[in-house]
Amino acid sequence: MPVFWIAGARSAGQQADVAVALEGSRIVEIASRPPRGARAFEASGQLLLPAFTDAHVHLAIAGDMRAESEALLRGGVAAVLDLGAPEPLVPSFRDLDPLQVAFAGPLLTAPRGYPTQSWGANGYGLEIATEEEARHAVARVAALGARFVKLALDARFPVLDASIARAAADEAHRRGLLVAVHALDPELVRLAVDAGVDVLAHAPTGALPDALVQEIGARRLRVISTLHAYGGEGIENLRLLREAGAIVAYGTDLGNEGTSPGIDAEELSLLAAAGLSFDAILEAVHEAALLAGIEGTIAPDARADLLLVPEEAIAQPALLARPTSVWIAGALMRGAGSGA
Ligand SMILES: [Zn+2]
Repeated sequence: MPVFWIAGARSAGQQADVAVALEGSRIVEIASRPPRGARAFEASGQLLLPAFTDAHVHLAIAGDMRAESEALLRGGVAAVLDLGAPEPLVPSFRDLDPLQVAFAGPLLTAPRGYPTQSWGANGYGLEIATEEEARHAVARVAALGARFVKLALDARFPVLDASIARAAADEAHRRGLLVAVHALDPELVRLAVDAGVDVLAHAPTGALPDALVQEIGARRLRVISTLHAYGGEGIENLRLLREAGAIVAYGTDLGNEGTSPGIDAEELSLLAAAGLSFDAILEAVHEAALLAGIEGTIAPDARADLLLVPEEAIAQPALLARPTSVWIAGALMRGAGSGA
């Protein structure tokens, strides 16, 4: 397999040029410039970044998961965390390779709870009425190969009792799974935090009391942004939670109305509006990768999931959504630069 270099780009946070050597699907070397005579793609004026991870998607909502995954990859997204899908569809996530998919499977919810009475009627929710059922449901999700258990708490529908939510979170942690929650209102965020969740799947939309903000921050909980999907309603909460110490992860709720596969320019603009600098936005993307269980970095031996974006993106983060070149597992998905 011939080695091919991407040369002359800047890596985020560094002034100096960087050159990265790809061999097959992997990064094999990082240097300041390629060796003389090496086959290289000239990328000056561009930033070289790891491809994105989206920490909140619903692949199964798209009619054609394969087409959805290809659109994600072409758009610069190499990995996703699927936070809600029916059990029978989960095995086909594997067929979406090279898209890396971590998942939660069906949401655990109260009888007739969200989302079983709305968009998620068709297997997106697993209803649990007792602590024992909670533990069984978690075992079932774990057996699917899930990385996460997701609890659904939505005030428009019946919600889990505190003791049942806690049993589900305990059982998930006992099995080494992380716990995410759909909770938008302060009372339900409170319930979720008391249950011991690790991740808020959305920036909450209802104003949170300061004591709760401080507690979420002190616990260093992760908050997946999904600002665009909720019309920017969570901006103030996200700002306050982050100031208090919560960790922001980039996520779009792809599959929700108004979303489309790829990097979401509006999500990036809203993150900037919530006070995240360009570097903080890249950190949020890295946190999304960690939630999905991948490194999400440019390093020797890592899979070559790379983007080039114009340097102007530093001043205008929405430009991250328009990469000029995308490589996924070493294959050029978009733009110039195959070096062939
Ligand atoms: Zn969602």
